[in-house]
Amino acid sequence: MPKPPSSESPDQSEAFRAYIAEKGLRGTRQRLAVFEATRNLSGHYTAEELLKKSRSIDRTVSRATIYRALPLLIGSGIIREVDVGRDHKYYLTETGSTPFRAQLICENCDTILEVDAPFMEWYGKTVAAKHGMKPISQKLQVTALCETCQKNKLSRS
Ligand SMILES: [Zn+2]
Repeated sequence: MPKPPSSESPDQSEAFRAYIAEKGLRGTRQRLAVFEATRNLSGHYTAEELLKKSRSIDRTVSRATIYRALPLLIGSGIIREVDVGRDHKYYLTETGSTPFRAQLICENCDTILEVDAPFMEWYGKTVAAKHGMKPISQKLQVTALCETCQKNKLSRS
């Protein structure tokens, strides 16, 4: 039996089920386990980490289930895809209020920080409007060195 959703927002589960139904798909036990896994992960995770978490909820979740569930989770606004230009993508569970976010990416390790950047949204809108354009999407990613990597660099030189 899948565990009842432990998250504080049952509406998210509703939204996901409704989205799946809209696509003419069934809310299978495996799909709901993947959904449940996203509620239990924090920070940025990879598809593999999502698979591991989903399997801890339902052992029958396969890698194919994950790759088919990802677009459904993204489309229904449950998770967000974060592409930082590496060979694999990261995912982040949406937490409700989502002001514009920027990513600080350490170029040396796996550290990725999400920071609120509401000014960027304003900036994008303003600049686009100036040229009679309507923004569709925008992103801000800052490549940096995290504190640990800075220290390691110093101790090596
Ligand atoms: Zn680092």
